[in-house]
Amino acid sequence: TAKENGKNNFSFYNSELNSIMTRKLKIENELRKAIESEQFILHYQPKVDLPTKRFIGMEALLRWEHPELGWITPGEFIPIAEETGQIVSIGEWVLKEACKQNKAWQENGFSPLCVSVNVSVLQFQQDDFLLTVKEALEESGLEPQFLELEITESIMQNIRESVKILESLRAMGIKTSIDDFGTGYSSLNILQELPIDTIKIDKSFIDGIGSTNQQAMVKTIIDLGVNLNLTVVAEGIESEQQMEALIHSNCNIGQGFLFSRAVAPEDFENILKVNNMKLEKV
Ligand code: C2E
Ligand code: MG
Ligand code: MG
Ligand code: MG
Repeated sequence: TAKENGKNNFSFYNSELNSIMTRKLKIENELRKAIESEQFILHYQPKVDLPTKRFIGMEALLRWEHPELGWITPGEFIPIAEETGQIVSIGEWVLKEACKQNKAWQENGFSPLCVSVNVSVLQFQQDDFLLTVKEALEESGLEPQFLELEITESIMQNIRESVKILESLRAMGIKTSIDDFGTGYSSLNILQELPIDTIKIDKSFIDGIGSTNQQAMVKTIIDLGVNLNLTVVAEGIESEQQMEALIHSNCNIGQGFLFSRAVAPEDFENILKVNNMKLEKV
């Protein structure tokens, strides 16, 4: 009967929910040990000058390999770390590690590139955030122009505070970028008040660039950025057609699997070598 089915559905739902909660709790607990047990590493994805395909920077992306659970995606653990506040110490580790690695590459003779680091809004709003950024630069010896911070539109919910922090970062010589641009609830009005350097168009717009309407959207976002004197970057480029459409619309910087996935530091070094060789030839 319907009643019995309903009951069965309920218990099925209950056990499903239970295993989701168990996994979440497990991840929450395991995250506590992840930094000290050195389970995190950063992978790097090149940022490319589209017309020449030359590397002009890289984004650091966090990777977590748990001894029993295996690889856990940022899509799964970052929201949990944000919810529990653990993202603050994890984010500090990421910032310091990315600065150290970038400095090491420079010292090993690679041509200097800017590293982009993702920063969660909770981390961005900590009282000692600017201090942490300063420490990351001082401890690594990295010059500020080689660091960029990627934040999301959600910082606009606290616009006054955010503008102050962005101004301080700019005064320190650090670049800032609005990540996943176009997916949040930012009013275009506020965008012109933000002291930022770059907008990064979200992958969802790039995915649909083949359709006329989406192409018009992307073109409009690019024009907006250009008119506000911002650098415009496209994320998630997977095909030559997408790349051509972007260049045609005046967006000359991008990232995506078409060029490279995010790779481990050793592998990134190898592609940097090829990139440097290309540079010598031009
Ligand atoms: P995001 O910052 O927007 O990073 C872009 C994501 O898209 C990365 O996923 C990247 O691997 C992926 N991606 C890049 N190109 C392509 C492409 O051509 N096709 C497809 N399908 N995907 C592409 P990932 O590494 O899984 O990171 C997901 C999100 O997790 C990031 O989105 C970012 O919001 C967050 N995240 C990653 N690392 C950190 C971190 O260190 N701190 C913070 N706060 N968040 C991070
Ligand atoms: Mg990002
Ligand atoms: Mg993004
Ligand atoms: Mg994205």
